[in-house]
Amino acid sequence: MQSADSCVLIVAPIGRDALNACEVLVADGINASICTDIPEMCARAQNGVGALLVAQEALADQSMACVSELLRQQPPWSDLALVLLTSGGDATRAGAELLRELGDRCAITILERPLRRVTLVSALRSALRGRKRQCQVRDLLEQRESMLQELQKRAESLEKSQEELLHAKDIISKHASQLEITVRERTAKLKETNAQLEAFSYSISHDMRGPLRAMQQYSTLLLEEEQDKLSPDGKDFLTRISRAAGRLDRLIQDVLLYSRAAQEEIQLAEVDLGKLVHEIIHQYPGFQPPKVSINIDEPLEAVVAHEASLTQCISNLLSNAVKFVPPGKQPEVRVHTQRTNGTVRIWIEDNGIGIAPKNHHRIFNIFERVHSPEQYDGTGIGLSIVKKTVERMGGDVGLESALGKGTRFWIDLPASKHS
Ligand code: ADP
Repeated sequence: MQSADSCVLIVAPIGRDALNACEVLVADGINASICTDIPEMCARAQNGVGALLVAQEALADQSMACVSELLRQQPPWSDLALVLLTSGGDATRAGAELLRELGDRCAITILERPLRRVTLVSALRSALRGRKRQCQVRDLLEQRESMLQELQKRAESLEKSQEELLHAKDIISKHASQLEITVRERTAKLKETNAQLEAFSYSISHDMRGPLRAMQQYSTLLLEEEQDKLSPDGKDFLTRISRAAGRLDRLIQDVLLYSRAAQEEIQLAEVDLGKLVHEIIHQYPGFQPPKVSINIDEPLEAVVAHEASLTQCISNLLSNAVKFVPPGKQPEVRVHTQRTNGTVRIWIEDNGIGIAPKNHHRIFNIFERVHSPEQYDGTGIGLSIVKKTVERMGGDVGLESALGKGTRFWIDLPASKHS
């Protein structure tokens, strides 16, 4: 079906002009149609038109107003072609007047009769070509309009999403601050409860030591001063009481040390590690040769630590290193340091019984022991003190070991800036 935009509407009310023109155009493949008068042409043109072919005599006053209205209603992209057939002389002058009147609203071409076929066809062909371009512009404009509308819709929905997002963000940030307050309150409460518990266990442990020491001292006194009156069983019972009291006393001492490690104020400072290790070895008879051999790879790197806490840690690790050896074997311990960037790793290595990898983590928990007290004396608190204290000093602790292969404990601490 041919489009209205490519149709030539013809109005030539007198004679055979309209019929002839229509025949010529149709014969040339142009879509042309005859209208009886100007009002009919204007009405049909409302539905789309390619060009107008009008005989001048059809343009009476009323018809002029009709054409003028049609042109006035044309959209901005339209430059409708109006081909005017005149008869020369006055008629042509009237055509020129028409040109002045409507020329800026449409593309007027004036053709004088008698008309050659080729002139008519070429004039309307070029008019239709122009119309085709205008229609292309119209389509592009429509496309642009629909794209703009789509864009507008997207922009609006984007704006809406952004508003929703801001609203959600607002809600989340309100929840977050509420959560922060709750966490802060709960943490403060927990800290308070924890401190109360620690203080309570500290005072209980402390108060238990008095009666315990009395038990220990009186049983020793009885054993020494009343031994003639005691039966062998009586002596055995008293010895057991004394030993049990001693063990309980050590346990309480260690628990006290642990709660002190957890509570004590810690001030970090430069510590001369070499001097500290030498003093520990010197003060403790269990670390002296020839019973044990402790070798230090001098010099030891200085560290940043809390001196009293670090003394406790090194003493605990050295005590374990000389304790956990097979019976009859001389403990050999090596102490050395290794500096990497801003950290010093302190190594304490022994030639003892070693620890199976599955127990490496658990031995740092309080009261965890791999060996029974019958095999090796102890309370299971020493390493938990080491861990707690080292972490409070901003360091870390770990070990490398396998059963029967000795153990290498390490402590990482910040290196001194002055060494
Ligand atoms: P304690 O020495 O009083 O038993 P610790 O907390 O110091 O308690 O150690 C926990 C457990 O870790 C020990 O009972 C022992 O089984 C194991 N352990 C610690 N140090 C060594 C070591 N150097 N060699 C072998 N086993 C060790």
